Amino acid sequence: MFSESAIAGRKVLVTGGASGIGLACVRLLAAKGARVAINHLPNDSQAEMTVTRLADTGADVFSCPADVGDVAVEAAVTDAIDRLDGLDWLINNAGVGLVREPIPFADLDALSEEFWGTILSVNLLGAFRCARAAAPALREAGGAIVNVSSASAEGKRGTSIPYSVSKGGLVTLTRSLAKALAPQVRVNAVAPGFIETPMTEQRDAQYRDSVAQDCLLKRVGTANEVAETIVFLCSAGGFMTGEVITIDGGRSF
Ligand code: NAD
Repeated sequence: MFSESAIAGRKVLVTGGASGIGLACVRLLAAKGARVAINHLPNDSQAEMTVTRLADTGADVFSCPADVGDVAVEAAVTDAIDRLDGLDWLINNAGVGLVREPIPFADLDALSEEFWGTILSVNLLGAFRCARAAAPALREAGGAIVNVSSASAEGKRGTSIPYSVSKGGLVTLTRSLAKALAPQVRVNAVAPGFIETPMTEQRDAQYRDSVAQDCLLKRVGTANEVAETIVFLCSAGGFMTGEVITIDGGRSF
């Protein structure tokens, strides 16, 4: 599916890259010879161990610790770009749901200002901060950004209203950045449905089965399946920008 030559030697930053969909992107890119800066939360020892293990297997990766929910992430992005000596692709993947069980949409009183603030700052502003810091290098490289939105962006379902709104905002941000950074930089998004990752592992088997039954493909998705589409949007799809690809097994069909 991917041409080795389109990926080898590319300089990439993946936010939230030490687990789930982000880690699947890192593995796929590193296996094809890309050089990858892996962003993760500061003091996340498990993430640091993951980066060390990858580097020990010969992957050309290094750690870029920073909280995308804080404006200080922009300095960390600049540092990563200096270390990479440029940037071809930015994958804005870091995101949080903040809840183990969904907050029913009707329960408006459960949604505190603090909850709204954290979700929007990490899931939406975080992507903007990284894009702003990376824009000069991406323009110079003729690069690409892929934002990880969600099928919940449609507002019909999701773990909470703020989560869905943050992912809907990310779709709008994708289109706005596609316009802002054209013609040098392509900006696209993926909108995954239910994907097996640490984010969804708390959901019980019954719920997972009911989601699978809702999907035309009668199963939930894997992190690798999302990563393949993200890497496609970076390394191919050269005439695509401002687009969102839904990856949900036909659940929203
Ligand atoms: P995950 O929890 O494994 O990955 C999220 C990563 O982001 C984690 O490594 C986490 O430590 C990191 N992160 C969280 N807050 C951060 C911050 N402030 N700064 C830097 N890193 C931070 O879960 P995942 O499912 O792989 O999620 C990846 C992306 O996919 C998220 O944006 C999520 O909203 C989105 N998504 C997931 C699903 C799903 O079903 N798993 C569906 C749709 C969209």
